[in-house]
Amino acid sequence: MKEYKRIAVLGATGSIGRQTLDIISEHPERYRATVLTAGSRVEDLITAAKKFRPSLVIIGKEELLGRLKEELDPLGIECAAGSKALEECVDHPEIDMVLTATVGYSGLAPTVRAIKNGKDIALANKETLVVAGNYINSLLSESKSRLYPVDSEHSAIAQCLAGEDINSVSRLLITASGGPFRTWTAEAMAVAEAKDALKHPKWNMGAKITIDSSTLLNKAFEIIEAHHLFGIKAEKIKAVVHPQSIVHSMVEFDDGAVKAQLGVPDMHLPIAYALGESSRLKGAERKLSLKDYSTLTFEEPDIQRFPCLGLAYRALHEGGTTACTINAANEVAVSAFLRGEIRFGRIYPLISETLERTSFISNPEYSDYVAINEEARKKAEEILRN
Ligand code: NAD
Ligand code: MG
Repeated sequence: MKEYKRIAVLGATGSIGRQTLDIISEHPERYRATVLTAGSRVEDLITAAKKFRPSLVIIGKEELLGRLKEELDPLGIECAAGSKALEECVDHPEIDMVLTATVGYSGLAPTVRAIKNGKDIALANKETLVVAGNYINSLLSESKSRLYPVDSEHSAIAQCLAGEDINSVSRLLITASGGPFRTWTAEAMAVAEAKDALKHPKWNMGAKITIDSSTLLNKAFEIIEAHHLFGIKAEKIKAVVHPQSIVHSMVEFDDGAVKAQLGVPDMHLPIAYALGESSRLKGAERKLSLKDYSTLTFEEPDIQRFPCLGLAYRALHEGGTTACTINAANEVAVSAFLRGEIRFGRIYPLISETLERTSFISNPEYSDYVAINEEARKKAEEILRN
């Protein structure tokens, strides 16, 4: 009988994908990479496939399929390309768990499909819960699949909640590094460019989440994600700026006790905790030395300079498709910002203008999320052009 868990790594060439493969390679007795996917980095995908020998490898860009086959056909590895293949790969019979580490809205369709197929999910792609958290929860309630958070804050909260009664939680305190603009003036932030925003003080991540961290929209997304994961009301979830990024989040209970999870900023730990279904692996690369951190500080976030943070509460109060629209507008804004077409100060107005112009559906079905995502992107592109 097989002893190891077979994993589909969606977004295998990215920051989370590569760190997931580190853990799989260190624990061959526990894990196998059975499916690997990537958007366009075909050479990195080939290198990973040669090392891990998965059953199936998929590249998003169809014109790169020839190159993939050239290297992997001789090894007997099945190859495919395109968005349909990226979604359908989770049907593969040899998968026990799907780790979702693609960027943005692209995470939704394969996650929905994997849950319908009863596969467990290790969720890095937070946008899935942001866009369609209620829908994902309703699918989970009818499926045998379980979902484990990879995001460090949500992993920290899950670790703090182990053995506790969720009804005795009075607040979730989600920590934020504050990003590269924590100490900047509003005037300087308004004209900041991508090169400024890409200098994250604590975490080395993909470009999109690094920009989301600089606007604090990432923290807004994490508040929405926490609401859907743990069933806690928006007013009981708060962001706290903690520049040292050692406390990964905290849970406050009715009796006043506060539990926190601490550790060096390193995603290997939360990824391993999710792959292990909330169990601990031996051999962390880096252990926390408290003498290196004699001072831990906590601040209120500045909502005037970081208005994107407030979008979490708007999204949770309005419900429906508001968060789907925010996500779509943000994806358009972040791409334009990374291309140098807009300055930092335009990101929030672009999202709020898109919200004013996009339809709202209060009880969305899956097809409504698809439609609103498209409509919001079109509206955001129009606003950009004018
Ligand atoms: P990344 O840009 O480093 O990697 C993204 C991966 O997804 C790559 O393999 C890329 O080829 C693939 N990809 C991108 N767009 C795709 C598409 N449309 N279809 C299919 N594949 C696509 O990103 P990352 O930093 O690893 O982040 C991945 C996800 O994990 C994001 O949702 C992010 O918010 C979340 N996350 C990341 C971190 C982190 O430390 N990097 C922490 C918490 C959560
Ligand atoms: Mg996080």
